[in-house]
Amino acid sequence: MIISGKELSTQMKADMAVRVSGFPERFGRVPHLVVILVGDDPGSLSYVRGKSKACDVVGIRNTTICRPADLPETELLSLIRELNEDAGVDGILVQLPLPAHIDEAKVIGAIAQDKDVDGFHPLNVAALWQKQPCVRPCTPEGIIRMLKSAGVEIRGKRAVVVGRSNIVGLPVAKLLLDENATVTVAHSRTVDLAAVTRQAEILVVAVGRPKFVTADMVAPGAVVIDVGVNRDPETGRLCGDVDFESIEPKASFITPVPGGVGPMTIACLMENTIGCFLRHQA
Ligand code: NDP
Repeated sequence: MIISGKELSTQMKADMAVRVSGFPERFGRVPHLVVILVGDDPGSLSYVRGKSKACDVVGIRNTTICRPADLPETELLSLIRELNEDAGVDGILVQLPLPAHIDEAKVIGAIAQDKDVDGFHPLNVAALWQKQPCVRPCTPEGIIRMLKSAGVEIRGKRAVVVGRSNIVGLPVAKLLLDENATVTVAHSRTVDLAAVTRQAEILVVAVGRPKFVTADMVAPGAVVIDVGVNRDPETGRLCGDVDFESIEPKASFITPVPGGVGPMTIACLMENTIGCFLRHQA
């Protein structure tokens, strides 16, 4: 069975659009998301366009601020400070990756915690790990939503996450743990990775290598969540970290690329923006 992130995210956005349509009357305005893009990386440009389109569907006001790749770090930080102080802005998202001369951690840390719609601010990360209220990071949250929508029971399952990045691997491992899965996190130094992934009843792959996980690495009946977004070197088409064709017949559930985790990430970003907006009204 294929878990369609496209379908689920379309439904989520339609539900949010209904909610947001009532905001002008209740609050006098709609949520406002500001996205900052530094440079002209084509991948980043397409992500930013996707976010802006989703805002239009949901009825969220969207401002995209584009700056050249040689923008000094100090200028980016002062732009963020201005937006932090602007009461008409609910969410601030700096599209990653940033050019090498800019310190990403410094930039993420400069965003006001209550406007950090990505959930990357150190205080939000700490709150997540301490099970405190926080902005939950979009991709991991989208993955949990997909599992639940497919009726996958997470509690008690052996989950393996391949990848330990701050934005995907680590937080998704934490969310799976919070759902009472027994979680293993694998990475580039894991010995005999295939033996580890074959143990998984739920396998989440966030590595960034086209078709990295092959059928022999997956147990029959496993639920496979493919986070990767890559170009297939042979066809030039988008593909995931998982070899979909050979694994799909073996898995009980699998997410496609495109149309899987990607659209769910954006839908969860819309939810986070609404959440920040509502907290600003309180
Ligand atoms: P990172 O490059 O930050 O992390 C990759 C992880 O994979 C690292 O932990 C690394 O291990 C591990 N890894 C690399 N090679 C191997 C290997 N041979 N065996 C086992 N583990 C390995 O990537 P991200 O987490 O940011 O992204 C992963 C993928 O997900 C990318 O394709 C990205 O484009 C995509 N993505 C998709 C999103 C979506 O919305 N669909 C959102 C965010 C990302 P180590 O730590 O040891 O180096």
